[in-house]
Amino acid sequence: MDCKLWINGQWAESNGGRTMAIEDPATGEKIADVIDASREDVNRAVQAAHEAFYDGRWSRLTPGERSTAIWKLADLLAARAEDFARVESQNTGKPFKFVSLGADLPFTIDNLRFFAAAARDTHGFSTGEYLKGYTSTYRREPVGVVGQIAPWNYPLMMAVWKIGPALAAGCTVVLKPAPTTPLTSLMLAELTAEAGIPAGVVNVVTGGNETGQALVEHPLVRMVSLTGSTNTGKKVMKTAADTLKRVHLELGGKAPFIVFDDVDVEAVVAAATLASTFNTGQDCTAATRVYVEQSQASRVREALVESMRAVKVGNPFEDVQMGPLISSVQRERVEGFIARAKAGGAKVLTGGGRPGSTSGGYYFEPTVISEVDQRSEIVQSEVFGPVLTVNTFESEEEAVRLGNDVQYGLAASVWTRDVGRAMRVARDLEFGTVWINDHIPLTSETPHGGFKQSGFGKDLSAEAVSDYRVTKHVMIKNV
Ligand code: NAD
Repeated sequence: MDCKLWINGQWAESNGGRTMAIEDPATGEKIADVIDASREDVNRAVQAAHEAFYDGRWSRLTPGERSTAIWKLADLLAARAEDFARVESQNTGKPFKFVSLGADLPFTIDNLRFFAAAARDTHGFSTGEYLKGYTSTYRREPVGVVGQIAPWNYPLMMAVWKIGPALAAGCTVVLKPAPTTPLTSLMLAELTAEAGIPAGVVNVVTGGNETGQALVEHPLVRMVSLTGSTNTGKKVMKTAADTLKRVHLELGGKAPFIVFDDVDVEAVVAAATLASTFNTGQDCTAATRVYVEQSQASRVREALVESMRAVKVGNPFEDVQMGPLISSVQRERVEGFIARAKAGGAKVLTGGGRPGSTSGGYYFEPTVISEVDQRSEIVQSEVFGPVLTVNTFESEEEAVRLGNDVQYGLAASVWTRDVGRAMRVARDLEFGTVWINDHIPLTSETPHGGFKQSGFGKDLSAEAVSDYRVTKHVMIKNV
């Protein structure tokens, strides 16, 4: 596979960039070298996207023509799903069968098909006379060149969540994948040409934070869309302020998982286990804070410990539910959270360390922690690993208060058979997604995005396409 930069519809050498080694987190071994793109590389990619935007080769196509190309991209991805899933698993440590091929690829292909359809769904605006003698009409136009910056936890899916709605809206893009996981984004770049998407419409520059910074600073970029941590979101927003770019921020999460006393404990515990260990807990919507009604607390705690111990952890290409964390740095980060929680008096009920045989990979045990203070770091900060804290509550009001008591607002779940209570709690939780009696599923049609410091702007759904459009009012004097 070619690991150059994808600029103006072809592979391009770097001008002044360095090389970064990409490793397999299941072994720690190097699997590829990619370019750490320079400021000059970013400039070439942005210029290509700028030219492609203003000569109309994409933005002036009919919605139907854009839709056909995006649909073709989905077909090509479907035809090569196994290859993509294999590389994604090698690069991220995701279980090949259970996550990459079983979940990420089918959903990503469905996302693209949705965006192909959404390219044609223009939701006509009303044209009318709002001032005597004038007719007003609205145009929904693409924003322009978009700089898109992705995280490492769902590399291919995040690339599609970014380029899908931008292309549907008629924008051109420069995508920068995460420094650790660029491989499937480069593979996707090549497919865009095969799908008939014109040169310069999709450009991919690999690199680290400085490459991202150069993209955010570039004066020809009209909008920046970032999925990443809340701290990076704040930096990007500050940088974007200098050129007053639009920002679209999908940031961190710390999802509460609120369990009332009328539930089926076994089903709830199975769901909490899946929602906290799927993708090794490196999921912005992962269940992280279990709050259980006092009367059920000991039953839920015991069942949870048993269920987390039973999660099959190991080589992503074997029949496992959980692979390694993404890097040694991330594992040390997770270990640091656990050590500080313990020092503060928390009790680790299971996990908390590295499993026995790990063949050099960055594995970490599914972990349950209790006796934690609501204000402590392990409850307040995003760990991004397979770690659950368990706390108790005594009333509906207290459950809502504890659930909302973090800076994040991305996703939450409520577990109860009482419909009235479920609806009240869903109303009062300040999160972009609230599940009732489940945790994790998303659909292409429904918006995904944050409240509070989890950011703003939506991924997926027609709302995402709308975020990449700007409204123009055309006022006609009826002479
Ligand atoms: P990160 O913030 O470290 O990096 C994200 C991306 O931003 C990377 O490509 C990185 O190179 C780039 N970047 C970093 N500093 C930059 C700067 N100053 N200017 C421009 N670009 C810069 O995040 P990560 O560790 O790759 O991913 C994990 C984070 O992503 C978690 O916080 C997770 O919750 C979040 N996430 C959120 C969602 C969502 O939908 N809200 C989805 C997935 C991941």
